[in-house]
Amino acid sequence: MEKTIFHKIVSKEIDADIVYEDDSVIAFLDIAPINKGHTLVVPKTFSRNVSVMLDEDLCKCINVAKRIGNVLMDVMKADGYNIGTNIEQASGQAVFYTHFHVIPRFSEDGLKHWPSKSYETGEKETVASKIRERFN
Ligand code: 5GP
Repeated sequence: MEKTIFHKIVSKEIDADIVYEDDSVIAFLDIAPINKGHTLVVPKTFSRNVSVMLDEDLCKCINVAKRIGNVLMDVMKADGYNIGTNIEQASGQAVFYTHFHVIPRFSEDGLKHWPSKSYETGEKETVASKIRERFN
């Protein structure tokens, strides 16, 4: 498998603006921020995306993402933040190394939420049932 840009940031082969690091997780500024302070949280152990990552790494990354979001509210004077992750190309994943976006949000930043869709009659119940039965 070819190394991604995040492999190279984790191994320090290439530079990044690292804002947090411990034994398991590294976080650095996104090179093309949605808003200034946009940070990426990455596990040091490689996984392609969240769908296959170890739960232990997931917990550590989410914990760091929360802490960074709270710091962004303070130092960037953000009004809130989004934590997000893309899984596979259809969702927008461009770098195939697990990462969580922590995006500071401002009341007047002009960013819109995703458009919504609607269900046909009865479809919502069918979808809910299909999902629910996988947990039974
Ligand atoms: P994805 O679309 O895979 O969820 O997000 C990948 C993110 O990585 C993008 O927001 C992009 O701006 C960021 N990115 C891509 N290349 C680099 C890089 O070399 N350095 C840093 N710091 N961020 C990068």
